[in-house]
Amino acid sequence: MNLIGSNTNDFLHNNVKVLRSRVSKTAYQGIVVAVAALVVATLGASYYATGGITLDGIAFVQRTNMALWIMDAVPFVFAFWGQYSSTILAYEASALVIDQTQELRERADNFEKQARYNVTHDLLTDLPNKELFYDRVEQGILSRDSSQRYLSVLLIEIGNYKQVSDTLGRNASDSLIRQVSVRLKSAYSSPATIARIDSNIFSLLLTNIENKESVILQAENIHRALEEAFFVDKVKMACQANIGIVYFPDHGGDVDTLVQRAGIALYVAQNSNKGYALYDPSYDEHTPRQLTLISELNQAVEREELELYYQPKLDLTNNRVSGAEALVRWNHPRHGLLLPDHFVPLMERTRMIQSLTRWVIEASMVQAVKWAQAGYEICLSVNLSAKDLNNPELPDLIAGLKGRTGVNPEWIMLEITESSIMSNPETAFEIINRIDQMGFRFSIDDYGTGYSSLSYLKRMPLKELKIDRSFVKDILTDESDAVIVNATINLAHNLGLQVTAEGVNNPAVLQKLKREGCDVVQGYLLARPMPVGAFEEWFESNASRPESALTE
Ligand code: C2E
Ligand code: MG
Ligand code: MG
Repeated sequence: MNLIGSNTNDFLHNNVKVLRSRVSKTAYQGIVVAVAALVVATLGASYYATGGITLDGIAFVQRTNMALWIMDAVPFVFAFWGQYSSTILAYEASALVIDQTQELRERADNFEKQARYNVTHDLLTDLPNKELFYDRVEQGILSRDSSQRYLSVLLIEIGNYKQVSDTLGRNASDSLIRQVSVRLKSAYSSPATIARIDSNIFSLLLTNIENKESVILQAENIHRALEEAFFVDKVKMACQANIGIVYFPDHGGDVDTLVQRAGIALYVAQNSNKGYALYDPSYDEHTPRQLTLISELNQAVEREELELYYQPKLDLTNNRVSGAEALVRWNHPRHGLLLPDHFVPLMERTRMIQSLTRWVIEASMVQAVKWAQAGYEICLSVNLSAKDLNNPELPDLIAGLKGRTGVNPEWIMLEITESSIMSNPETAFEIINRIDQMGFRFSIDDYGTGYSSLSYLKRMPLKELKIDRSFVKDILTDESDAVIVNATINLAHNLGLQVTAEGVNNPAVLQKLKREGCDVVQGYLLARPMPVGAFEEWFESNASRPESALTE
């Protein structure tokens, strides 16, 4: 900023100098014209008075001719006027430029402030958004004083939001939400934090609570504040609010657990006639499985319940097993082995996905190092979540793990999806480029299911395109799928990329892919994803003659 300031000052200073010299130049020209006119007039007057142009004649007319006296003064007038007006003009101009620069700076500052504000606020209600709310709860937890007072999080759901939106339209439901936000704001002033964390869910953080019962009173207050009828598009309506309540520290030690358990309480509140519920661990048994899974995920990493399975990839160009994909599994104590589709999307809704990604990357790197030491020539594919490409800390996290595990980046291929890039392309590019510079490779997973444009693909430092298995499985029967696969293979090759087909589960499909020029295949035909021990056994007996696996 200082640099910009000093540059601007130099610039201004130079401008003023130029301006002054221009004005002075005009004044000098005036002086030259005036002196020339004086000389011509003096010579003319001398000739007229004495009949010739002599020094005596010139001296005579200069002494006696009043008109020449006036003309004598003109150059001085010009000089004075030039100096004076150039100074004034330059002064006014510089003041103008300074004013405008100041205005521009103020506007830029305002823009910056607005952009910062938008990142942390909900534009419809002007309330803090989810990110800011989570941050405030974290701060509340950290700054809780030793007086052992409680902190409480309330989730307030507007139950008829969807119904209003479906029947009266989006503007009407927006209007209802805005009115509710105004009522909540007027019912709670600071130090309570009110936020809008989802389309129809507000959240309230109460700090410094003396006893738990007082929060129940707060919930009743909210119901009272929302009791009066709302007018939306001149239609009178009631707002059906449900409230889920949790306390810190009783119901969770961190914001994710607190919000998740407030969600469970909210679920119970929806089915109660009071319209609010205080979380109780016994609710976990009766709520939908996925609501409770989120809270258990927190401990899954610590309890070492996560495990990587490995599925081999066969390189058709040299008939070697050249890689494997690491696929996460959760050995759940009650539900048994859970596939990623059951918990990865849930984690992506909270910041827990960052811990999963960290665990998966670290475990994959450790495994890649072990295999390299055992002489396996395998590149390990690791799935990143769509949310990871929004996390600016990812490159540093990967750099740290690379240092810690000693992995050679060439042993790792990071799989990203088209939609993860397209949701925020500029941030994604920056993150991808930084990781690429460390030497890791990138692959586009599930290619064909997203909407990435060719120009984006060209800009990215990619190594591989993986054709989604939905196109591969019907390649023999569905003409359009066959066309898509063929076009993708050509496109990838033209971009200098390797093509992997996922979900290859029958020999005829494999033969067709071979004919189309596909480079690598992965699928149940070769092997299913396996725990590390089983994978190593499979690899030892199939790496050099994978065709035996294909014909068994
Ligand atoms: P994906 O990355 O496209 O992984 C391929 C999925 O297809 C795997 O399912 C694999 O078991 C399955 N598959 C492979 N060959 C065949 C086949 O021949 N037929 C059929 N029907 N399926 C086949 P999985 O392991 O259930 O993983 C599902 C998705 O979960 C993955 O799709 C990936 O998007 C995500 N995922 C898996 N592991 C991770 C992880 O560590 N982190 C993240 N963020 N996501 C993961
Ligand atoms: Mg994948
Ligand atoms: Mg895939």
